Amino acid sequence: MTATLVDGKALAAKVRAQVAEDVAAFGEPVCLATVLVGDDPASHLYVGWKHKASAEAGIESRDHRLPEATPESEILDLVAELSADDGVDGILVQLPLPGHVDESLVTSSMDPAKDVDGLHPINAGRLFLGQPLHVPATPLGVMRMLEEYGVELKGSEAVVIGRSEIVGKPMAMLLLAEHATVTLCHSRTVDLAQHTRRADLVVAAVGRPGLVTRDMIKPGATVIDVGINRTESGIVGDVDRDVAEVAGLLTPVPGSVGPMTIAMLLSNTLQAARHRRLGLAVPGS
Ligand code: NAD
Repeated sequence: MTATLVDGKALAAKVRAQVAEDVAAFGEPVCLATVLVGDDPASHLYVGWKHKASAEAGIESRDHRLPEATPESEILDLVAELSADDGVDGILVQLPLPGHVDESLVTSSMDPAKDVDGLHPINAGRLFLGQPLHVPATPLGVMRMLEEYGVELKGSEAVVIGRSEIVGKPMAMLLLAEHATVTLCHSRTVDLAQHTRRADLVVAAVGRPGLVTRDMIKPGATVIDVGINRTESGIVGDVDRDVAEVAGLLTPVPGSVGPMTIAMLLSNTLQAARHRRLGLAVPGS
């Protein structure tokens, strides 16, 4: 078997075009503010892409870049300022933050109605309760891809590898909401392959090249590779290339999950703007 490769770039372009149309129809300015602390080159690249994509969709953006040594209190002050600013609809704090900053304190300090990354406890809790508002863009993009490619989730066996707040956990919740039977694997999972081998869907979100090999995949399964790893041979995911010989559907890295993440961030920002203008308060905000 040779897997069908998901064309995430094409789907992302479609989502972005729809967001652009909806932003124009909305008729009011929509604004995303990003906060980036430190010098991590990958983070600077990602934030640059987010601004470019925002501009193309007609979304204004504000770019706050702070030095690595910025005290936590200053970051909290900036987030409070953006939360109170009526001209800002969405706030994205690019992670990771430097070691001296408590990430969860920063994300919990923002107005949950503007938390377009879906990391505030209110948004995470809403997803857990099956009442999602802002959902992290990467797992949301994965769900959009699965829908586009007609992957049947109801009653399927899904294995998510990685339990981060931004990918693994929300991914598991979204799949559960679609009636998949979900197994969440992580660094302490004993015998990962025993779980993945019976899965109809495997989502790998770890950050370790070659973690998922072809012998771990059931023939015909859908394999979503969220991993981004910089290696000597370029950017690779968590899934070995020859998994394409057994999987039914596979996301290539780069060019699948990444572009969808940016597209869904734009969609979340428009959603935040709509909610705020329509006065749909987020409980707790
Ligand atoms: P993280 O470091 O926060 O979490 C990694 C998870 O992997 C942890 O939950 C850990 O328990 C698990 N893990 C570690 N070693 C393991 C092992 N041997 N077996 C099973 N599980 C193991 O990372 P993250 O922020 O969730 O990101 C994961 C990967 O996805 C990274 O490569 C990141 O760059 C990538 N990513 C891509 C996008 C995108 O848009 N394509 C977005 C976010 C993250």
